[in-house]
Amino acid sequence: MTEPTEQDEFDDISPGEAFALLGNEIRIDIVRALGEMSDESLSFSTLRDRVNVADSGQFNYHLKELVGSFVRRTDEGTYELTYAGNQVIGAIFSGTFNQRGAPRTFDLASSCTICRSTLLAEYEQEQVTISCPACDDQISTFGFPPGAFENRTPEELANAFDTWLRSYLSAIVGGFCLTCSGRMHGSITDVSEYLEKQKVGTEHICERCTNRSVNSVGGYLLYHPIVVAFHHDHNIDLTETPIWELPWLRNEETTVLSRDPWRVRSVVELDDNRLELAVEEDLSVAII
Ligand SMILES: [Zn+2]
Ligand SMILES: [Zn+2]
Repeated sequence: MTEPTEQDEFDDISPGEAFALLGNEIRIDIVRALGEMSDESLSFSTLRDRVNVADSGQFNYHLKELVGSFVRRTDEGTYELTYAGNQVIGAIFSGTFNQRGAPRTFDLASSCTICRSTLLAEYEQEQVTISCPACDDQISTFGFPPGAFENRTPEELANAFDTWLRSYLSAIVGGFCLTCSGRMHGSITDVSEYLEKQKVGTEHICERCTNRSVNSVGGYLLYHPIVVAFHHDHNIDLTETPIWELPWLRNEETTVLSRDPWRVRSVVELDDNRLELAVEEDLSVAII
């Protein structure tokens, strides 16, 4: 039996062709076997042993189909995943495309900033909702991959939710779409139809995939250096404090100073100290 001799081809293929290439269990097993050894490439024979397909002709055929898109044949003749192959591994392990998250509910080790009751995390239809049952108030809702629940205790999950939200918000603020890696453009907008308690917020739209993210002004300001420093001065490390534990963010005080052009005042209040910030039409921020 001979190994595939075809070298990498870097021609673009259509999304339909790319997904069709993955529509076979042996190919997925090949990608998985290479993904399990992400820091080293595998020889043809090692890879074949790991995938464990009795029919070697079949194995050879499927490997050949993947070379050039999800698998790379190195100059030494070994095999490794391409960037696209690694993204497929991420999608497999996160369960985003093939798992439906089982609904679950658990207490968070955090108290409501208003009534001190224990906050609740609920997972349904791949969405996490953090709420206070006593105040009957939904604090945050966001999509979360089902695979991320594996091997995590409730405490670790709370950390994972916070880290997930943090990276999501910082990507948005940086104008980066986490769905397609495209450029996002931000503006101030009327959000009364999306956010229950807010009249005004920020909206970011991806110019490539049209993904749209609407957030409170506070969510936008959260990792601004002025806000980070203000929290630091009050002994709050924003890199370690879950978003749902910030009282000012829960009941954020925003005032529309002007609509054309947009100018909004947002207040960050900690220990009776007020930080008043103006957010301009172009989303620049200044202390007022
Ligand atoms: Zn409460
Ligand atoms: Zn996008």
